[in-house]
Amino acid sequence: MERRSSLSAISKGKCPRCRQGDMFTHNPFILKKIASMHESCTNCNLRYETEPGFYYGAMYVSYAFSVGILLANVITLYFLFNDPEIWVYITSVAISSTILYPLVFRYSRIIFLHIFGGVKYRADLRNSTTT
Ligand SMILES: [Zn+2]
Repeated sequence: MERRSSLSAISKGKCPRCRQGDMFTHNPFILKKIASMHESCTNCNLRYETEPGFYYGAMYVSYAFSVGILLANVITLYFLFNDPEIWVYITSVAISSTILYPLVFRYSRIIFLHIFGGVKYRADLRNSTTT
């Protein structure tokens, strides 16, 4: 049986318990459905929203992503483009943040659930399709 690593499950947006069921219903770039998640895992039936408002905490992960995007832009522009004018920095950060927003939103929730959801991986639940 194939064993999926935690990193692989996070990168593919899979359930933290069985690492098989999808967390989200649609592609992240379909913006109308960006937040639509399965209520529970389609494979092991784990409820994804462990308590009301659980995903408010994902804002902290999102904040970390935003700081990373900002730093990556500043470092790249400063060293590769010889410290351009300030409007170039602002425009670059605004464009890259906008383009990456769907991924930041999704991965913030995925990482938050995997790390702070208190769910342990159970290999025996793979391919279980419980009712
Ligand atoms: Zn699952």
